[in-house]
Amino acid sequence: MTAALTTRVAKADSAAAAEAARILAAGGLVAFPTETVYGLGADAANGPAIARLYEAKGRPAFNPLIAHVVDLEAARELARFDARTMRLAQAFWPGPLTLVLPKLRKCRVAELATAGLDTIAVRVPNHPVARDVLAAFGKPVVAPSANRSGHVSPTRAEHVKADLAGRIDLIIDGGATPVGVESTIVACLGEPALLRPGGVTRAALERTLRHTLAYIPPAISSADDTPLAPGMLASHYAPHTRLRLNAHYVEPGEVLLGFGPTPPEGAKRAKKVLNLSPRGDLIEAAANLFSHLRVLDAAGGSTIAVMPIPAAGLGEAINDRLARAAAPR
Ligand code: AMP
Ligand code: MG
Repeated sequence: MTAALTTRVAKADSAAAAEAARILAAGGLVAFPTETVYGLGADAANGPAIARLYEAKGRPAFNPLIAHVVDLEAARELARFDARTMRLAQAFWPGPLTLVLPKLRKCRVAELATAGLDTIAVRVPNHPVARDVLAAFGKPVVAPSANRSGHVSPTRAEHVKADLAGRIDLIIDGGATPVGVESTIVACLGEPALLRPGGVTRAALERTLRHTLAYIPPAISSADDTPLAPGMLASHYAPHTRLRLNAHYVEPGEVLLGFGPTPPEGAKRAKKVLNLSPRGDLIEAAANLFSHLRVLDAAGGSTIAVMPIPAAGLGEAINDRLARAAAPR
């Protein structure tokens, strides 16, 4: 976080929705009520805005975020639906159900928001204030719970204010959220599987699917407030090329993921070089992380050498993701 922001609190009305849309379009952060809990919204297509969102929450890791859209038609611009997935969407949207789906090639959602995955979590909320904001903005909004990492999810505007005042631009006060627990997450990447129990019951889902739903329990827990939705272990972005972290030099045949203005020793012999942020800005680096890794992974190097990234601020999350991407498989 650079300079502290002035956080305005606005009563929920059409003027507040219009202001929210302006802030989102400018890369800012807006908290608003959904039927589950208050969400902290950012333009899903704006990498730096999403990096600021992680920073405002103080997330230790870049977990993939849920893209919120106004209707099924908008969701179909992001993800591939099959007949079964369509049944779920038609039965439960708008509502507290999140579907994890194959991401379409044309999907404009930032790589940082999907944590570099080929899948995307999508939801159509039914809270009138969330719907007004989405309609006014007209594009997908990522919106994790509007609390500092490690704190309890907020169900009132005051909770958001206590956690995030000075870190976000606007809080829309729409009273207490009706559901109060997070959305149910169902992975639809083959046989549907329950990743996180939530606002829609398993029984209701099974009635619609006309079969039982496997539950994939959380494989690992996270330091975040969000228990990592299950399947997370499998859903860590994993490049094919091996990573060598904290590289102070480049070996022949390697590709280089740089950071900051000073190239490491041997940088000239790298097969390809991408810099997360030549000016050493961690927000810019976070926004570039997954897309740069993808490009370097495809560049045919023996190894991706990664320069040291400072541990401060978003650097912690960047280093967490790099360490996972480097883990032996
Ligand atoms: P939150 O919005 O903070 O309540 O949490 C979002 C949840 O969605 C996290 O638990 C993520 O792990 C999960 N999630 C988002 N995208 C994906 C994805 N592509 N695959 C699996 N889980 C996902
Ligand atoms: Mg949360």
